[in-house]
Amino acid sequence: MSDMLKNAQSQIRFAVNKLGLPEEVYELLKEPQRVIEVSIPVRMDDGTIKTFKGYRAQHNNAVGPYKGGVRFHQSVDLEEVKALSILMTFKCGIVGIPYGGGKGGVTVNPLELSLKELEQLARGYVEKTHKYLGDRIDIPAPDVGSNAQIMSWMLDEYEKISGYQQPGFITGKPISLGGSLGRTQATGVGIVEIAKCYLDKAGKKVEEASAAVQGFGNVGSFTCKSLQDEKIKVIAIAEFYNGKTFAIYKEDGIDIEALMKFRESNKNIAEFEGVEVIDMDVFWTLNVDLLIPAALENAIDGEIAGKVKAKAIIEAANGPTTTEGDRIFKERNVFVSPDILTNAGGVTVSYFEWVQNLYGYSWTEERVLNEAKATMRKAFDNIWNLYKQYNDISMREAAYMYSIKVVADAMKLRGWY
Ligand code: GLU
Repeated sequence: MSDMLKNAQSQIRFAVNKLGLPEEVYELLKEPQRVIEVSIPVRMDDGTIKTFKGYRAQHNNAVGPYKGGVRFHQSVDLEEVKALSILMTFKCGIVGIPYGGGKGGVTVNPLELSLKELEQLARGYVEKTHKYLGDRIDIPAPDVGSNAQIMSWMLDEYEKISGYQQPGFITGKPISLGGSLGRTQATGVGIVEIAKCYLDKAGKKVEEASAAVQGFGNVGSFTCKSLQDEKIKVIAIAEFYNGKTFAIYKEDGIDIEALMKFRESNKNIAEFEGVEVIDMDVFWTLNVDLLIPAALENAIDGEIAGKVKAKAIIEAANGPTTTEGDRIFKERNVFVSPDILTNAGGVTVSYFEWVQNLYGYSWTEERVLNEAKATMRKAFDNIWNLYKQYNDISMREAAYMYSIKVVADAMKLRGWY
């Protein structure tokens, strides 16, 4: 079994025991309620047909319809999608939005496909799974490797099949197709709101805080941008480029806006002026206030966790710390703000997008982001209070406990146990 799935199940186990909930709750939550595996044929530009594997895992819908992104990445497999769907259930529970957890994925490196091939793949995914999707059933969104264009093709395919307009079928759409202002940067903005809540508890002023961020994709880049907006210095950014992982470093802070602009014309951030290129060994052991993994799962294993010097780990990616890494952080007393709390700003604004779609409204960016920030602060306080109340649990354990209670109550009321 994959480490992420094992980790999620052991967190459920722990929370059920600690809360004294009946065994049935573990039994009902340990696996997704449904998983779908499909083959998607694509006519490649060279005339051949290639089939790609696609998945959708629907973990639990006691609180509301399943919700979660569709990942386009070469390492996607069934176990990963299952684990990520479990994280989504608890993520939605933490921020108190009326959704259950779902997740999808296609095993593909999207950078190797032409636009024409990618469009067929996006449409094919919906064609094969549409019976199980819908604005009151299961609502997809972007994830690693997918974007607003892919959401547009998926929406168009879904509406072609169903015969009527349903913008609430999918979130993370472009604004002109019913997307929400603020959705692109929402995950990053939420992550930084959580980082600020932590700094506040640690008694550290934002202007004196420093951060190192692993990953400069959608989540990583907007996290860096929000850190800069909030006056938190980003001194290092790690990136994967051309088969190599490295980091750029600047002691008095990298100018993120300039870097984002630079990246539009040059994908290799190592060539950005005024920065030093450092090895990953150095990156992981930087003496920063905030270490923010914002790439893929399992980035921080036991070995890295043993030598990290950062005061806090702010988990922007889903599942970035291995079970062993997590154990070591707990032993070393390193503060970890868990993924299911930290990156919930994305799905929170997806929820706002869905609400706007169902009502035909369009909110201002200010309203969207202010409500998202308030939601994140409230979620942090709820988890922090539980963490302090028990005193012998980690923030991750507190997050699972808080949210399992939400889902368990809904399942009880429905008569599932
Ligand atoms: N893929 C994002 C996540 O892992 C967003 C999900 C959504 O907006 O539904 O939280």
